[in-house]
Formats: sequence, structure tokens, C-alpha cells
Amino acid sequence: MAKLPEPAEELLERFGPHPNYTPPGGWSDESRNPAEKLVKTHCCFCGQQCGIQLKVRENRVIGFEPWEEFPFNKGKLCPKGVKRYLQNNHPDRLLDPLMRESGGFRKASWDEALDFTARRIREIQEKYGKDAVAVYGGASLTTEKSYLVGKFARLAVGTRHVDYNGRLCMVSAGVAYKLAFGVDRSLLPWSDIPKADVLFIIGSNIGDCSPITTDYVWRCRDRGGKLIVADPRLNPISRNADLFLPVRPGTDLALLMGMLHVILRDGLENRKFIEEHTTGFEAVKESVAAWDPKTAAEKTGVPPENIEKAAHWFAKADRAIALHARGLEHHSKGVENCLALINIALATGQIGREGAGCSMITGQGNGQGGREHGQKCDQLPGQRMLTDPAAREHVAKVWGISPGDLPQPGYSAEEIMEAIHRGEIKALLCLCFNPLVSLPEAGYTREALERLEFFGVIDFFLSETAQHADVVLAGSLQEEEEGLTCNTEGRVIHIQKAVDPPANARTDTSILCELARRLDRAKFFPFETSRQVLDEMREASRGGHADYYGITYERVDEHMGIFWPCPSLDHPGTPRLIEGGVSFHEDGNCRFVVTEWRESGDPVDEQFPIYLTTGRVVSQYLSGTQTRRIGGLVDIYPEPRLEIHPQLAARYGISDGDEVMVATRRSEMTLPALVTKTIRPDTVFIPYHWPGKKSANQLTHRTLDPRSKIPEFKVSACRLRKSSASEAHK
Ligand code: SF4
Repeated sequence: MAKLPEPAEELLERFGPHPNYTPPGGWSDESRNPAEKLVKTHCCFCGQQCGIQLKVRENRVIGFEPWEEFPFNKGKLCPKGVKRYLQNNHPDRLLDPLMRESGGFRKASWDEALDFTARRIREIQEKYGKDAVAVYGGASLTTEKSYLVGKFARLAVGTRHVDYNGRLCMVSAGVAYKLAFGVDRSLLPWSDIPKADVLFIIGSNIGDCSPITTDYVWRCRDRGGKLIVADPRLNPISRNADLFLPVRPGTDLALLMGMLHVILRDGLENRKFIEEHTTGFEAVKESVAAWDPKTAAEKTGVPPENIEKAAHWFAKADRAIALHARGLEHHSKGVENCLALINIALATGQIGREGAGCSMITGQGNGQGGREHGQKCDQLPGQRMLTDPAAREHVAKVWGISPGDLPQPGYSAEEIMEAIHRGEIKALLCLCFNPLVSLPEAGYTREALERLEFFGVIDFFLSETAQHADVVLAGSLQEEEEGLTCNTEGRVIHIQKAVDPPANARTDTSILCELARRLDRAKFFPFETSRQVLDEMREASRGGHADYYGITYERVDEHMGIFWPCPSLDHPGTPRLIEGGVSFHEDGNCRFVVTEWRESGDPVDEQFPIYLTTGRVVSQYLSGTQTRRIGGLVDIYPEPRLEIHPQLAARYGISDGDEVMVATRRSEMTLPALVTKTIRPDTVFIPYHWPGKKSANQLTHRTLDPRSKIPEFKVSACRLRKSSASEAHK
């Protein structure tokens, strides 16, 4: 059903991606027609959510100015932030709803497109049951919209199955922090980072993926702080590290258990903190007994003396901070990896003090806020669990329903694709998520999309996934609808509406509410503004760990952001969590959790002897739906290249720029080599922002972490071959 409606080349010609290089009217226009207003808001891309001022004229964004007073980035922006305004007025922008017909997409009226969407959802549910329809949300949506997605799925559609693309980002950290501390958020504001004496960064390519954090790291170094970095690649931040640990992909857990072994062997643990603020220490102590530095070194490839040094530096520091990101979390043991790092922080008492703690670095724009208020498959607003009777009762009361009307937890993002393959899920409604590029094993995802009996999309560009849709509802850009997001620190910030959606495009909120009305659930979706959604969300989150009750747009503007939890209108917010070692668990203790070693889901062997890992480049953002349309960003890094060490390249006769065929147990692709010494000689790296034949996710595998359900993007087994000239030009 959902095969492409017209040839891919024609879709590309009509809908892009076309790189846009110039603002409306061209480069010299602003000198003749200056901006009418400057709107203080935030970058639409990564989880840093830098402050920026958009220049607006005649309902169009025509440029930007730095926002130097905003405390997080103080005017600084990365290349994506500098160019972000070019997505507004983009020639590829969807301006009307589209409906599939034989031979291609045609423009449709809103009534026709919305009626059709609601009718197909009803027909499929009548035939196969409520849970035959699934909903995907996104972690770039404002927090109000992500709240609305969860409510829409459960009340308007009435399905169990709602999840979001943050499932591919932060969830391993989220599960681990909930287990250890009872809450899923960075434990510290970024202003703590420069105050640390030791900074341990593991699995985070800060320079490319969270560039503004680099500034905080340098400030730490400037005041004499030591920097330890663990990564398979000598990424930009590593080049100034005091200690670099070139860990083999998939073995972070062994490194961390080895470090804890050293700390306990050498009596460097903080007994007072352990006794007063934790449970579970003895079991964890026993679990790392076998992980002496030599054993850990054999597994990780990191010299044993450097494992010892890292452990000593971290434990002996007055104040130490551990930061981590997807390199630690994108694993089938991603939760264990995070827990092992937390165990080190707990054992050394490096928690809950100024300049001491641990934190995940958020990837997606609203990666934090998007995982707090119910668009996850097992979650209700306020970071409540759907299985908790008290949580169900609270939220049901706010929504005006009975707790029994709330569905039980459903499938996570990748599990939804598997259920489509099995024929259990027949229809999908997808908001601002491009799973064809983002999910592992892209061929499997494409097959799933082709099996759907109905596929609806709400988005502002026609992504590669949206090309498979039956109906595309033209939604809104970040700057077209007011709302909140939560940045990497846990600071809730205000996205200002700068312009209206152009032509016939509509706000995502109005689209969801209109669909709800057509599904006869209008009374639960009376929202005309984001403010109304926020007011209900504040009540729904009240008393939960992610309590937003005291957060309003006005208060956020006044204070340049408020850290949650913020339970009342006179509460100042909570920049640092676990202060004094007090956790969110009922007994107030932090939990040590035992971690057990296991191999990757796609192990190397004689046939596939090389580690493949994937990640980002600074000029692109996630699946590239937005950034592959911004000319200046495309030019920085136009297509994926295979990073390969000179020793490995020499073994295969590969020189810089040669075309190389990379094969895994699922698929193969050909791409040019980038020969560089900044990667382990047993590992290759491909950035994942491109679709089709350039998609790194053709190669990755679908092994999930059993608790977080995150796919293991960071380690696959592969083999290489230099391509022949004829293959290279296919
Ligand atoms: S992409 Fe991230 S680091 Fe870059 S300007 Fe935007 S929010 Fe800041």
C-alpha cells in the first residue's frame, strides 16, 4: 500500500531536499528592507537549545542576531544555529495537505485530508481493533505538543501504541537514572561543569554533537581541571584531553567496571556517602571483583595503567563530573553502561554537590522535555508510569475520564515496526519523525511502511518516510507555534512564536485537535492555543517528579528558564538534583545497581571482523530532514564518508577518497574513504544523516536493550572491500 506513489526522482524534483542558500529577497534585501522585529527564542536543532534572536519581516524569518544575555550560550552558536533561519521560507516547505493518488501526490483541502485520515483510522480499528493503529511522536516537538501526542493517542485514537523518536536517543540514560535516582534528568546545571576538578566524558563527541558544551569544558580546563575522554575515536574534544581512553566499541561496560574495581581495590570509595545515601553497594562490589585492570584492558583495548589512572583521578578529585551521551547509551547494554558510570559516581560520592555529579548530554532539540509528559509508550505526564494506579488516577481525573479508560503500556518505536511486519499494527500516524533514515536496518523499516494499510504523516517537509504516506498534513516549524522545551541541563525555556505557518500549512496543535474532533473526542481537545495545553499539562504533571505546575511562559521569560521540578508558582526551580545525596526514591536513597557483562548483539567474527560505529557531524542534525535542505550546511559535509585508520586502510589497499564497499550481516553500501588517524585501527565510522544508498542505517542491526528498547547503533560487525571503478560509479 505505502510504496512510493511516484518515482523517487520525481519526488526529489518536486519536494527536495533542495539546498537553500539565501534568505528571502536575497542577501542585500535586508539593507533596503530591515527587520520589523527581533524575537528572542531558541535554536530548533540540538538539545543545547541555544538562545537566538530571529529577525522577522512581513511574517517571514529573514535572519538572526545572537542573544548574548541568554545564560546558557551567551550568544554563541554552532554552524547549524547560524544557518537555522534558512529553513523558514524554504522552497521545499509543504504548504497544503497532500493526498496520494495513482501516479503521485496531489494537493487536497484540509477537510478532505482530515476526514480521510479520521475515516481510515476508524475503518482499520473497526476491522482489527483499537491497537491496530499506532502513533509516532518526535523529540523536536515542544513539550506541549509531545504532551498532546500522548493524550491524542490514548484518548482520541484509543491505542496502546504511542512512542517517539527519542527512543533512539536518550532512553538508556533515562532508565538508568530512574533506577538509580528515581528521576530522569541531568543531575546538574551546566554552570557546575567549569567547577569540576576532573571531568570524565565518555561516549560523547561534544565538538560535533553538542558544540556549545565545549565552552564549558574549556572553562573547566582553564581553571586547571583535568579532562579524561573515553571514545573509539579521537574526537575533537579528545585532542586536548589529559587522558584519552580509546575504548573498543561495545566495551564501555568493561572499562567502567574495571575503574570501579580499582577504586574499591585501592580503598578510594567514599564510605560515608555510601553508608548515608545509598543501598546495594555490597552486591555491586562483588560484581566488579573479577574486573581487574588486566581483564578490563583485554576487553576494551585500553592499557591497564590508564584504567587505573582514570579511576584514581576521578575518585581522588574533590569534585568530579561524568558526562555521557549516545556513545555510552546506543547499545544493547546501554542501561548497564549508564548504571556502571553511576555506580562509580555513587561509590566516590561525586553526586549532588556543586561541581560534582553525572549527567547525560541530550541529543534532540527537546530530547528532555519530549520524554517527560506521556508520548513514551509506558509513560503519563510528569514522568509518571502508566502502570502506576495512583498515576493513572491522577491523570484520568485531570483529563475527565475513568482510570480504566487509559490504555496499558504499548510497544516502543522499533517494536512498532516489528508489529507492523507481523501484521498486528495496520496503520500509523507519524509526527516529525523520519524512521526510514533513523531506525536501524533501513530495509526492514521500508518493508514495514509498505505493509501498512494506512499511513498518515504530519510534517513540514516531505521526509523520506513521508514519501510513503497516504496523506501528508502540512504542519508547523518550531518558530510558528509557541511552547516550552527543556534543554540538556533540565532548564525549561520558552520557544516564542515568530511567524504564522505560511499559506495553508497549520500548527501541529490545531491538526491534532481537528483530528480528535473528527474521531468524536472534541471535548477532550478544546485547545486553541499552546497556553491552554500548557495549563492542562501543568495540572497533569503536578505532584509527579517532572512537576511543571509552577512553570508559566511569563516566569520562564523573567528568569531565562526554570529548572524542573517546580511545584508552585513561587518555587525557584531546581537546577541541581540529588542535593546532599537525597534521591527521588521514596526512601531518599540512591541505588547501586549490579551490571553484568554481555557481548554486542552483532559480534565481530572471521567473516565480519571490523567494528562499525555511527554518529553525527556538526553540520547535520539527526535524519537531516531540515539540515540537508540548508545549502551552507550541506556544503560543509555533503555526503557520508567512511572514517578509517591508515593501518586498516593499508591492509585493504585503500587510499583517502577511494570508494569502499562496507558490508554487514544485513546489507552493504559503497562510500568514499576518509583515511584518518583519529579512529581505532579495528573500527570504522559512518555518519548517519542520509537516506537511501547513503544511509548508514542500512547496515545497523535491530538488537534492542531489553529495558530501554534502544537499538544498538554504536556497534555492528562489518567487512570491507575496496570497490572496483565500475562498482564505484553505479
Ligand atoms: S544546533 Fe545545538 S549547539 Fe548548535 S546552535 Fe543549535 S542548539 Fe546550539
